[in-house]
Amino acid sequence: MPDLHALCCGRLAFDRSVFFPDAAPGTPTTVPVPGWLIRHPKGNLLFDTGIACDAASDPAGKLGKRIASTYRLAGAIDENPVDQLALLGLAPDDITWVVNSHLHFDHCGCNSLFPKATFLVQRAEMMAAQAPGSRYDARLWDLPLNYQLIDGEHDVFGDGSVLLMPTPGHTAGHQSLMVQVARDSRFVLTADACYSGEHMARELLPNVVWDGPQMLDSMRRLRALGEQSGTRVLYGHDPEQFALLGPATRALV
Ligand SMILES: [Zn+2]
Ligand SMILES: [Zn+2]
Repeated sequence: MPDLHALCCGRLAFDRSVFFPDAAPGTPTTVPVPGWLIRHPKGNLLFDTGIACDAASDPAGKLGKRIASTYRLAGAIDENPVDQLALLGLAPDDITWVVNSHLHFDHCGCNSLFPKATFLVQRAEMMAAQAPGSRYDARLWDLPLNYQLIDGEHDVFGDGSVLLMPTPGHTAGHQSLMVQVARDSRFVLTADACYSGEHMARELLPNVVWDGPQMLDSMRRLRALGEQSGTRVLYGHDPEQFALLGPATRALV
């Protein structure tokens, strides 16, 4: 059985109304940017690579003025995938697979650090990112990396323990991941298909939405999974939940 570790790959500070459109502007919030390490007998898998490690010194230059004017990078110096993996005795070259839930800046920012990995991205996401006029930042993902494009569900190791699931709506080709860590215990990693438990409870869509009805449908499917016995849902940017998960060295059970 694989194990699962929560890595903190940055933090974002911004106005709460960005995530909660029904909140009055003026209230700051800070959320974690998780990466998730899965150690499987057939290889190590990293789900999302966080914010670019070199962005803190020049956010506008590295991420663009639009992003830099909305979000302040608030992560500690060691809150990046390289330092987090090192806590577990791993180097970037020890990662066999990288899964990008989607290609927003806070989910693929460190892709360039994993040149030996195979990247699993939904074809619909890559096509949306490559489309003329796309607002995706090509500097972060349009790199000489080994991308394997996925159409729909995908069983990464062929044993049912790590499954990719399309959860479109936030973006065209967003995907979530389910990992079985014990016979009676599994986790669903939503990424940005659902930012937090509050979004799930209120069926609240954020400002950043490609297709609202599809996002709502994806959230409801994730909730239904979470209601199955032995299944826990881990949200994309939930400060309260993430704080409970503990350091990268602790395997989640
Ligand atoms: Zn996103
Ligand atoms: Zn995000």
